[in-house]
Formats: sequence, C-alpha cells, structure tokens
Amino acid sequence: MLGAMQDWELRVTHLIDHAATEHGTREIVTRWADGSESRTNWAGVRRDAMKMANALRRYGIAPHDRIATLALNHHRHLVSWYGVVGAGGVLHTINPRLFDDQLEYMINHAEDRVLLYDAMFQPIVDRLRDKCPRIERFICFDSGDHAPAFEDWIAGESAEGNWASGGEREPCMLCYTSGTTGHPKGVLYEHRSTMLHAITALQPAVFNLDARSVVLPVVPMFHAASWGLPWMGAAAGAKFVYVQGNDPAALCEMMRQEKVNVSAGVPTVWLALLQHMDSTGIDLPELRQVVVGGSAMPRPIVERLMAQGLRIAHAWGMTETSPIGTTGAEPWDWDARDFQSQVSYKAMQGRVPFGVEIRCVSLGDPAVVLPRDGKASGALQVRGPWVVKRYFKALDDATAADQWFDTGDVAVIHPDGTLQLTDRTKDVIKSGGEWISSVDLENAAVGHPAVAEAAAIGITHPKWDERPILVVVRKPGADVTGEDLRAFLSDKVAKWWLPDAIEFVDALPHTGTGKISKKDLRDQFREYRLES
Ligand code: AMP
Repeated sequence: MLGAMQDWELRVTHLIDHAATEHGTREIVTRWADGSESRTNWAGVRRDAMKMANALRRYGIAPHDRIATLALNHHRHLVSWYGVVGAGGVLHTINPRLFDDQLEYMINHAEDRVLLYDAMFQPIVDRLRDKCPRIERFICFDSGDHAPAFEDWIAGESAEGNWASGGEREPCMLCYTSGTTGHPKGVLYEHRSTMLHAITALQPAVFNLDARSVVLPVVPMFHAASWGLPWMGAAAGAKFVYVQGNDPAALCEMMRQEKVNVSAGVPTVWLALLQHMDSTGIDLPELRQVVVGGSAMPRPIVERLMAQGLRIAHAWGMTETSPIGTTGAEPWDWDARDFQSQVSYKAMQGRVPFGVEIRCVSLGDPAVVLPRDGKASGALQVRGPWVVKRYFKALDDATAADQWFDTGDVAVIHPDGTLQLTDRTKDVIKSGGEWISSVDLENAAVGHPAVAEAAAIGITHPKWDERPILVVVRKPGADVTGEDLRAFLSDKVAKWWLPDAIEFVDALPHTGTGKISKKDLRDQFREYRLES
C-alpha cells in the first residue's frame, strides 16, 4: 500500500518558485570586481532564470545535458544555476583556479555543451577552446567582445513557461573534486539530495538562515555547490550579497554597507578579513554568524571571532557530501560551559545534523568500528541521502555495500558525538582551501637527475592552514640544493604549489609493501614549523 499524499517531487526549481512568490522583493546585490554594483531580487532571479531556461531549450539543450560555468560570485551566476536546472540540464560549476589540464579533463569528461564564463577568464577560455571541442556555445556573463553577452542572450526570451519536469532522483548539478589522487572526480548531485540538503542546511543548528538573514557567501559558487547556499537561501528568502572576488576591503565594505549578518568561507578568508580590520580599524557590527569549513579553523581565530560575540559554525564536509557533514551545532549544555570550553568545542569539527551518519573504523585489516571515546582515531566514514554513492561515469560504487563512504580523513569521535579531525589518509595537501597533489609534486621532483626519492607532505601554516614541504633523498654522490630543486620545479607545477621548504634526509620511511609511509613521515615532521 502506498501513502495518500500529494505528488510533489523534490525538484530544486520549487526553491526558486518559493523565493519569488514568498520573498520576491528580497534583494540580491552584486559588487563587481571593478567596484560597480547591481541589484535584483528573488523575483528578478526567477524571471531571468526562466528566460535562460527558454533560451537553452530553444537552443536544443536536452534533459541532463551539462552546462558549465567558469565564474566568480555574482547574481548572473546565480540566475544561471536556476536557469540550467530549470531547463532540465545539469549545472557544472568549474573552479577557474585549477590548471589547464585539469580543466580540460573535467570539461571533456563532463561533456559540457555550453560554457558560461566571466570576462576575466577569457584567457583560460581561449587556451581551452581547441582542447574542448564538445563545447558548442560560449556565453560571457559580462558584455565581452568575444562571445554573446549573457543579458543580450536572454533578453528576447519570454519570462513565461514551465520548468522542466521529471523525477526527484534525476541529476541537477555536477561538481568535480581534485581532493583525490589521479584525475578529478565528478560528484553528480540529484534534485532530491540537493533539496534534502537545503532543507536541513538552513536550520538553526546548521546555517541558521531565515528571511532576516543577509548572507555574503565568500565561498565561491564553484566550491562544493557554494556549500548549498544558493539553494537553501532561496528556501529561507534570505538577502544575498555577492562580491566578485575575495578582496578583503571589498568584502568588508559590502558587509558594512548591506548590513550582512551571515557569512561563509574557508579559514584563510577570515584571517585576511581580520588582518584588514586590524590594519584599518573598521568593524563589522551587524555580523552575527560565520560559517567556516573546508579546512580546520585555527583555535586562536575561533577565540578571536567568538570574543566579538560571533556565532561560529565550524563545519566539516566534502564535495562528496554536498557538502554538509558536520556543523558546529551547540550541544545541550552550551550555556553552562565556560568561554574557553566553548572555544575548544568550536575549534573541533562539530556534530552531525539529522541526515548524516558518521563513524570511525580502524585503519588496520580487518577494519573494526571504533568506540566514540574521544581517543580511538581511525578512518572517518559517512553515509546519508546527500552523500555520493558513485562518482560520475564510474563503473563501481565509491561506497561499500552498506553505503559507508570512506572520506580519506582520519578522526576521533568524542562521546557526545563531536568530530575531531586528526589526520588524512588521502595523499593531498590543502592550502588556502585549494588542493595540492602530493603525488604530482613528487613525480615532478623525482624527474630531477639527482633525486632518488621525494615525498611531499602538508605542514600546518598560520595563514594557509597547510603548505607543502618536500622531503628528498639524494642519489648517492649526487649534489643538489633546495634552491636548485625549487628552480627545477618552477616550470613544472603552479607557483602556489612550490614547496615552502625542501628538506634532505638519508632515507624515507616505507611501509611493508615498499610504499613511502606518509603517516610515519608526517609523524616525524609533526613538530616541524615553517619559518613564516
Ligand atoms: P572539498 O571536497 O574540496 O571540500 O574538501 C573536503 C576535505 O577538506 C575534507 O575531506 C577534509 O580533508 C577537508 N576539510 C573540510 N572541512 C574541514 C574542517 N572543518 N577541518 C579540517 N578539514 C576539513
């Protein structure tokens, strides 16, 4: 027997319908990189999204076709999110900071048919055009010289029509993650997973959004679905303030001017903002909550922000988890805790909202589920309706038969359910919220004729959270300095990937199977401090 309630598929277009009908005049503000500003509102976003959906359909976009964006945060980008899904397409947001070969791989793997981009990324588009022949159509969000401009493209379209219909398990969005070894992997979000995530994420224990919220998402729209903000914000009817770029002065100015009370971004952003506030003496009187995630938030910064009366939501998550895994939801005895113990709690990764399950399993074989005793550390696993099951186009599931997804993070879980990340099994380094591949760095380094073996590991850094160092074994009798090696690497990897230090050792630790033991190496360098 089935239940007897109405058919209402959990499709993300319901979000924009709700926002336009119930919160239509709530503003969406953009500050462009050149300092100019634009204003629209949720009704305007829906109108333009419908025009875009009609333009896409007229162009021949079929359900589930991928439409890519290579853009920073602004309202036209937001319109394109709803326009793409409204036409039944799959929105593929691309991180412009990745390297050309990663971009080329992702665009071709996704089989993107249309690319919408910011004029400032024209050089990237020009380099990729021949390498990505499946892209049929380029649209520039600005009034660029090289491609039709977004507003001109949709101008003649009708604002009437219906959103594409379909089932709630159909895909709506594709995000690639480079936080793994090998090629970036695509995570294909569904309408249903996105809706459940959005409904959960706006709750008080998570992002705490409602119609009084004025949100400035510093988190880019290409990072893990902008943490779900464009979806949940529509459900809440929040005002949004977008800044194209993350210049601290522009961010602070817009926060003050628009009375922003909620913001979200990686820890490096908050460090830069605090520095700017210290050097200029300005404050942000309206800001009451900041969501921080993507990397561990250093305790002194947590303390500093909390001392100013801000609520910190220190969240852990991944592209693979849509991205909310845990948040810094206050436990039941919060008000009885003293300030320092509150800070200690917020410096950890918090607790899961309903909808996410976590556990730690031992790293050995066979893996056993570890107790939640605050001591036993092991591989962090997660499951739930907005956790990846299979990467895009993968033949096998990324999860075991019982659905647990192995995050590549190592953690302990405290008796009250608080998650504390302690290490990582995946071989990557996260600097300023962006991934650096240890393997690529090592492969480049061993290309030097004097290098026998090299291992890259992440070292805690006060500004970037982690920076890479390279630990190198020279070939017998060979002579190479750190400077030589840096010069050698400089045209092989991006500048910001270059190791902050190069240490020479006689031997690297190895596992029983002969692989470099990153765990032992990280242990050896646990007390290592970078000079800056
Ligand atoms: P991404 O898919 O790029 O969002 O990266 C997800 C990964 O970032 C996680 O698996 C963690 O390794 C790391 N990460 C995310 N949030 C946190 C956090 N609050 N503290 C420490 N590491 C984090």
